Amino acid sequence: MNFKGSANFEKSAKSRVHSEATIFHKILSKEIPATIVFEDEHCLAFRDIQPQAPQHILLIPKEFVEKLDALQQKPEDQALLGHLMSVIPQIARKQKFTEYRIVINNGSKAGQTVFYLHIHILAGRAFQWPPG
Ligand code: 5GP
Repeated sequence: MNFKGSANFEKSAKSRVHSEATIFHKILSKEIPATIVFEDEHCLAFRDIQPQAPQHILLIPKEFVEKLDALQQKPEDQALLGHLMSVIPQIARKQKFTEYRIVINNGSKAGQTVFYLHIHILAGRAFQWPPG
């Protein structure tokens, strides 16, 4: 696979770490510890520090993206999103999740507190709908 993230990751991650680092930049650069459950060339998944379900994993791209809205209808953005979505079932199988919910909070009113795109993967209990 060839998309923006792989070629520019080192450069973009390093240049942003010191200027506008979020907690997820620091997890990615291993500055702060996290329980990593999956990693490949383009993304990293680790356990949420404040789980909202018995199992709560966060999946982030290695290329910095502030939030879902920052992505566009460009082939490289579509490839990045497609890759993230495609690894979720792999992570779920590895963790032995049979049923799970995925969530992306886009913007503060939607509940986003860390401005580094992440997908929540929640499992281990029943979930309500509407989510509230
Ligand atoms: P958001 O509210 O932005 O959608 O989700 C951010 C998530 O990051 C929250 O569920 C929060 O518990 C998690 N989080 C915040 N700080 C840390 C941290 O230092 N380590 C880990 N593993 N998760 C964190």
